[in-house]
Amino acid sequence: MAKVPMTTPLVEMDGDEMTRIIWALIKEKLLEPFIDLKTEYFDLGLEHRDETDDAVTVEAAEAIKRLGVGVKCATITPNAQRVEEYGLKEMWKSPNGTIRAILDGTVFRTPITVAGIEPTVRCWKRPITIARHAYGDVYRNAELRVDEPGTVELVYKKASGAEERVTVFEFSGPGVVQGMHNLDASIESFARSCFTYALDLKQDLWFATKDTISKTYDHRFKDIFQAIFDAEFAERFEAAGIEYFYTLIDDAVARVMRAEGGFIWACKNYDGDVMSDMVSSAAGSLAMMTSVLVSPDGYFEYEAAHGTVQRHYYKHLAGEETSTNSVATIFAWSGALRKRGELDGNEALREFANALERATLETIEAGEMTGDLARITTLPDPVTLSTSAFIDAVAATLAKKLA
Ligand code: NAP
Ligand code: MG
Repeated sequence: MAKVPMTTPLVEMDGDEMTRIIWALIKEKLLEPFIDLKTEYFDLGLEHRDETDDAVTVEAAEAIKRLGVGVKCATITPNAQRVEEYGLKEMWKSPNGTIRAILDGTVFRTPITVAGIEPTVRCWKRPITIARHAYGDVYRNAELRVDEPGTVELVYKKASGAEERVTVFEFSGPGVVQGMHNLDASIESFARSCFTYALDLKQDLWFATKDTISKTYDHRFKDIFQAIFDAEFAERFEAAGIEYFYTLIDDAVARVMRAEGGFIWACKNYDGDVMSDMVSSAAGSLAMMTSVLVSPDGYFEYEAAHGTVQRHYYKHLAGEETSTNSVATIFAWSGALRKRGELDGNEALREFANALERATLETIEAGEMTGDLARITTLPDPVTLSTSAFIDAVAATLAKKLA
């Protein structure tokens, strides 16, 4: 069988621990036998990040700007314990944070749905994608304990010398106070990423804030979204047959619980933090969640939403058999390959990406899965496979499909 050709390479970012092992297995068993895989390889494994003083992460992000599409393995974000474990020169920043700072994107998380893994919310027939604005608000706040009576004001000292003040509260007893900010530029690029990805998926976009209560702060988000939609996206949405829908956050939550799914839900930073955990746990398992970084300039980076699955890796190092779910990492690859195919007009590559996803889901639907899914499936008599046996099973299904 002739291998599917590729023209432009993908930016490939290798990672750490159990997901690094899965990464190599996916390439060896699911990709290289079937496609003439072309990648620009960047080793974001923690040792190599340390050796290069983290320059490799920046180079990978620059490569995504050049080539348009990247696929990333989960990576360790160092903490004090990791600095000691790996003898690091420094507590390097989160690679995802570094890449996002360079590409200025929004992260979209979507559960992978499969028959036999039923969402806890019964009416959800299709996945709900959450987009979280990853800048500002309570995550970049300034806070104070108020310990005696007094007045708290917001003071805005303008560069021009003028001043604006507003009273937050006149305290007669102890309490707390907090100041938050956001930036038009950040909200604008969030809006553009959301509208761009809605067009990409051909799905409706929902956005919600609390603008009835927060008449300046939240209202600014609403106005910016609407202005960008009207000026840049309304016609393209109409042509694609999709809608932009704005509502209040409480109304959005109520509607989501009664919806069938199949749309993108754009959330402010805090709402996205909370709602993404709700959607992922209601959809089944963190191991079945993909994550796509979409930049306002239209660059795409695909990865699994979960981490490096450290606990399984230590079992693996101890020589024990593991049953780690590779589905989200497989879907990171299929997502990136499909996008590469689209951009290059490479129909065979797009078809391969679709076939890889179908083979993965059909393997599970036939009752062969990893332990995390076997524990929650509604299918009778599931067979629990090891990490590598599951990938072998997908390879066998895929080979049959492509024959
Ligand atoms: P994790 O790797 O997501 O795993 C947490 C637990 O979730 C696992 O112990 C496992 O539960 C379950 N799980 C997650 N993915 C699974 C999979 N594919 N198959 C089966 N079970 C899965 O989170 P963590 O252990 O807290 O973090 C480990 C490292 O990952 C950290 O160093 C962190 O910095 C990094 N991290 C990276 C990213 C990223 O690169 N995007 C994201 C998050 C975390 P059981 O142990 O009960 O089986
Ligand atoms: Mg959270």
